[in-house]
Amino acid sequence: MKYIGAHVSASGGVENAVANAQAIGANAFALFTKNQRQWVAKPLTESSIKKFKQALRHANIDPKHILPHDSYLINLGHPEQDGLEKSRAAFIDEMQRCEQLGLSLLNFHPGSHLRKISEQDCIAIIAESINLAHQQVPEVIAVIENTAGQGSNIGYRFEHLAEIIAQVEDKNRVGVCLDTCHTFSAGYDISSAAGCEQVFAEFAHVVGFEYLKGMHLNGSKTALGSRVDRHDCLRGGTIGTAVFEYIMQHAEFNDMPLILETIEPENWADEIRWLRSLAV
Ligand SMILES: [Zn+2]
Ligand SMILES: [Zn+2]
Repeated sequence: MKYIGAHVSASGGVENAVANAQAIGANAFALFTKNQRQWVAKPLTESSIKKFKQALRHANIDPKHILPHDSYLINLGHPEQDGLEKSRAAFIDEMQRCEQLGLSLLNFHPGSHLRKISEQDCIAIIAESINLAHQQVPEVIAVIENTAGQGSNIGYRFEHLAEIIAQVEDKNRVGVCLDTCHTFSAGYDISSAAGCEQVFAEFAHVVGFEYLKGMHLNGSKTALGSRVDRHDCLRGGTIGTAVFEYIMQHAEFNDMPLILETIEPENWADEIRWLRSLAV
């Protein structure tokens, strides 16, 4: 069974995200549990937590099909102590918010070396950040998203994801999320069925599907290997539709959140219907 949704607004309170997901016919969704552009957020209120959990029960959405995304400010591979400490504290706060909401996943971009340290050193810092968060928060799975490799971002090779996982102590609480736009912009050619076979076989070999906890389904505005992250509609852009057919028709992508972060929210209901029509 496929669980499809979008990164919906939680404006006015996390509980509102559930209704926003239902309104587009989603049975999965992503959200920010705090303002993604600010370091500090007010704690979730008891009332908000209760309403969120109630709304999920009414909507019949399983918490494992919800993929919260952390703040864009956080850099768990920060080369400098101040920035790193601030990022680690904010990440732990995000994990605690997930736990309070009864959610088991937290999606994040691995981090950036800011051209001050090597990729290898940055990867070691990211893994250590995850280990520290695991010590503070017992339940939540850290879900590393692959990146387009824009700027000094780590995570544009499957090997980066594998190396971070290798250095995480608790393998049961680390996973990955593949973003189709980022995968393509990073240079993995998923624009045909044969290309998908090859790329996902490489993923299985280098990382392993047992670590795949979710997918971001996006078109791309930029070319294969551009290393530039610009999302597009599912049926617009440079990737084509083969990868979405592939995902909808393969069981490796069952029972996990498949999340749209496409550029026109007014098309989400239609994009979800279209994806469902591709399932066999
Ligand atoms: Zn992301
Ligand atoms: Zn994404």
